[in-house]
Formats: sequence, C-alpha cells, structure tokens
Amino acid sequence: MRPRKRPSEPMSVPIIVSVKCHSCQQFYDPREVISVANVHTCQKCWEWHEKAIQQLVTATGGCPECGRSHDEIGRDYPNGEPEYVLVPKDGIYQLLCRRCEEAYALQRKEMFVGTEHGADVLKL
Ligand SMILES: [Zn+2]
Ligand SMILES: [Zn+2]
Repeated sequence: MRPRKRPSEPMSVPIIVSVKCHSCQQFYDPREVISVANVHTCQKCWEWHEKAIQQLVTATGGCPECGRSHDEIGRDYPNGEPEYVLVPKDGIYQLLCRRCEEAYALQRKEMFVGTEHGADVLKL
C-alpha cells in the first residue's frame, strides 16, 4: 500500500523541543518520555525499569499502600502477574500496585499529562 499524501502539510515546521532521557541520555520527543519528579525517562528505559521493578517486588512482595500481598494483587490480573509502579510519594519512592498507583496518579495528574502513560493508563 502506498502512503497517502497528507492533504495539507503545514509550511512551517513545528519546533519540537527534545527531552533527554535520564537513563540512556538519548533525546526524545517530550510526548514520548515519562516524566516523574522532573526526571525524564524514555519508554524503552521505562520498560526496563518496570521489568526491574517487577523483579524487585517479586522478591519482596506486596504493596505498602493497600497492604495487599503479592498474591492478592495478582488476583487483579487475568494472568495472576501483578504489576507495580515506582512513584515518588511522601518524599520517598514507593512501589505501589497499579490500583493504588492509579488512585495516586489521579491526585498528581500534572506529572503524567501529555505522556503516553497518562493517555493510555490514566485516560487523561
Ligand atoms: Zn532512555
Ligand atoms: Zn496497593
């Protein structure tokens, strides 16, 4: 299939300010990075980060916010594999289950507005 020509390509090129990923030091479109507490992480690094987090939690287990155990949180998921998110909360980083993270992130929407995480997960 041939790519269709867009009907009205704007003459002026929009200025895209790129953001440097804190982890891999590559530059990205700001819409492609996840910014938490002024630290920008590209999606690739974020995925690795999340994988690392999963490993950590598998070793420790449970969510400090709701107090549910790893197995209990796993019941939220069809595959029984809980997901956790590292969030800066109360001055420290905490690993929260998705349910708690979403509740927390909604209170802190501004951190996620404009990110894919905000759009896909939080429906901002
Ligand atoms: Zn990166
Ligand atoms: Zn929780």
